[in-house]
Amino acid sequence: MSPRVVTTQADLQEAAAGLLAERRGSSLGLVPTMGALHSGHAALARAAAGSNDVSVAWIFVNPLQFGDATDLDRYPRTLDADVALLEDCGVDLVFAPSVEEVYPAGPPRVRITAGELGERFEGASRPGHFDGALTVVAKLLHLCAPPAPATYRAYFGQKDAQQLVLVQRMVADLNFAVEIVPVPIVRAEDGLALSSRNRFLSPEEHDGALVLSRALRYLEARARNHEALDIDGAQAMIESAPHVQLDYLEVVDPETLAPLAENCRRVPFRGEALVLVAAAVGPVRLIDNMPLRS
Ligand code: AMP
Repeated sequence: MSPRVVTTQADLQEAAAGLLAERRGSSLGLVPTMGALHSGHAALARAAAGSNDVSVAWIFVNPLQFGDATDLDRYPRTLDADVALLEDCGVDLVFAPSVEEVYPAGPPRVRITAGELGERFEGASRPGHFDGALTVVAKLLHLCAPPAPATYRAYFGQKDAQQLVLVQRMVADLNFAVEIVPVPIVRAEDGLALSSRNRFLSPEEHDGALVLSRALRYLEARARNHEALDIDGAQAMIESAPHVQLDYLEVVDPETLAPLAENCRRVPFRGEALVLVAAAVGPVRLIDNMPLRS
């Protein structure tokens, strides 16, 4: 059945409460997105629809998290196709509000600050991005919360590793009554992590972009085989690829995102870590990551 599309907070809350009551349901799963959905979002939507009595997808291109107005303007908007994909995934409700509905009094004057963790990696090249992202996530987690005592779960992709860690920290540090469920990265067959921005890559840039997952897999194999992490080699691989401008490649602690000790470059790898990478490929900024386990 096609999901019901609602555009106001009042309609969303009434529809979700109605479905929960009708189904004598006890859980609601929320999938926050900016639309232009692909199979990566579908994995989140299927997980939410499969494990909860009622599922809601949120589609909202949040101006607060875009530093650059051009990037905001050209962000793809494909609502009809998104609703069709969400129908396939079994999602019940789509909440697609206007900017005025979300921020009726204009840009919020009180915001969440992501702190020091929000200033590294993506935060370093996109100042204010995570404050904006966390502020809208906080709002939507409140807006979409089911009536007590229903269980509330929200699904986030590991594709945006830093965002996921920050959302988990916000929920723990500020006592939000919601369980955050991480969903693994979905990749194309050629290894490229799916992203709504991939559609802006030319065929040559797309080929260049494949170096990101290649470099991650190279480090993953070294970690699995207890070898020292050849971070310089992985960076050089990316730097030599056509159309690709490396921003950062860092190996970090998966929970705190603190950089790993320098000696991981020299001593056999043990334990767990996460490699984060970001690069400009032609006109598009891409991010990717991969867990390392020995
Ligand atoms: P976005 O619409 O790009 O803001 O993403 C919405 C959600 O989908 C975020 O939690 C992303 O991490 C997740 N997501 C985006 N791409 C992927 C992917 N390739 N695999 C898994 N999750 C993804």
